[in-house]
Amino acid sequence: MLKSQLKSVTDRFFTLSYQYLRPQLMYESIYDIDFGLLWDDGVRHLIFDVDNTLISYADSDVSIQCINLFKSIQSIGFESIILMSNNSSVDRIERVAKQLDLPAITFACKPFVFTMRRLLNDRSMNIQEVALIGDQLLTDVLLANTFKIISVFVDPIDTSHLSYLKNAQYSFQRWILQSFYRQ
Ligand SMILES: [Mg+2]
Repeated sequence: MLKSQLKSVTDRFFTLSYQYLRPQLMYESIYDIDFGLLWDDGVRHLIFDVDNTLISYADSDVSIQCINLFKSIQSIGFESIILMSNNSSVDRIERVAKQLDLPAITFACKPFVFTMRRLLNDRSMNIQEVALIGDQLLTDVLLANTFKIISVFVDPIDTSHLSYLKNAQYSFQRWILQSFYRQ
């Protein structure tokens, strides 16, 4: 009896995580994303996570490669390209935003919906035209899937020398990703 109850709880857990934590698209890095294809699929608004998506936690400046990538993304014609970070360091995120010449939202509290909802409303974005790119299932992908906007997952840039909490998040994420492959 207990065994069958446990099985039903774990089945429910995996069904829910498959529904909410599974990215629609997965790439090794932002440099592997086919932004032209996203454009062809009707995406007009791109929202990027910052930490471990664009730069590692150890870096404070974006690379030339990253600057060039964003120039080429901008040349495609996207209506908005916005940085949205959970980081509470306004200085850090504003610095990245300035280097890429993009607007940024700090302390976005992903996966809570209020910041995204405000952004979608303020800019009158059609959710079918929005893609969110990030390195964390529990924040970026969960938020995107909650709104049913396109979730684009990239492998985190560097998961060494992180806090205990961040390590635990990435370990859980790796375990969840492996469970998707097993299904
Ligand atoms: Mg991140």
